[in-house]
Amino acid sequence: MKREPVISIKHLNHYYGKGALRRQILFDINLEIYSGEIVIMTGPSGSGKTTLLSLIGGLRSVQEGSLKFLGEELYRASQAKLVSLRRNIGYIFQAHNLLEFLTARQNVQMAVELNKHISQQEAIAKAEGILRAVGLGQRVNYYPDSLSGGQKQRIAIARALVNNPPLVLADEPTAALDKQSGRDVVEIMQHLAKEKGTSILLVTHDNRILDIADRIVEMEDGILVRQSHSAVERKL
Ligand code: ADP
Ligand code: MG
Repeated sequence: MKREPVISIKHLNHYYGKGALRRQILFDINLEIYSGEIVIMTGPSGSGKTTLLSLIGGLRSVQEGSLKFLGEELYRASQAKLVSLRRNIGYIFQAHNLLEFLTARQNVQMAVELNKHISQQEAIAKAEGILRAVGLGQRVNYYPDSLSGGQKQRIAIARALVNNPPLVLADEPTAALDKQSGRDVVEIMQHLAKEKGTSILLVTHDNRILDIADRIVEMEDGILVRQSHSAVERKL
């Protein structure tokens, strides 16, 4: 059985700035990510990792090349298509981006309620369920302020995964955490992803978490310089 990649990128280039200031940031990127795969992207600061993540996440328009999400082309896609794409992606950033005036449960519940056909009761049940899964069952009614960095990042993971998205994009999710909390949060992500077949693309500088990856890719000056082939691709 040939599996369709969740993400398929071909000859992608990207530029910032206009006229004389125009500068190429990404050069001929080719990358495929399969269902259930955990891909880690490393590379120096300024090499273009966040730019690539924002293109994959539909947060920026594709300028040149092809980028397909579940077979749908994002090059020249309408805003409406990008909006619906974003609903199918879970995002986890370095800063957790939680709303401080909402409790852990309310922060996660808000993401569930983006699906209009879900009742408030269902949303609460789902939010509490996933918070238990990330080990925060005793903290559902706490505000972010009263929780540790690792606990806040676990809420962010819960929020990113609660709707079961086929793809999670994580940009340096452990950067602000101590060694053990960083390890804990990626293991939670790995566990939930493997259970649900979610693909994860995770950017990190943290060498201590590389072992959770099925595949590691390396960005340098806007070029994917090293790319091991995935088990899935080898089987095709
Ligand atoms: P990384 O995430 O690997 O640190 P980025 O994708 O953030 O790299 O940045 C790649 C390059 O693009 C850097 O030189 C950065 O200064 C530049 N850059 C990032 N965002 C913008 C922007 N919005 N406008 C112009 N230049 C940008
Ligand atoms: Mg970055």
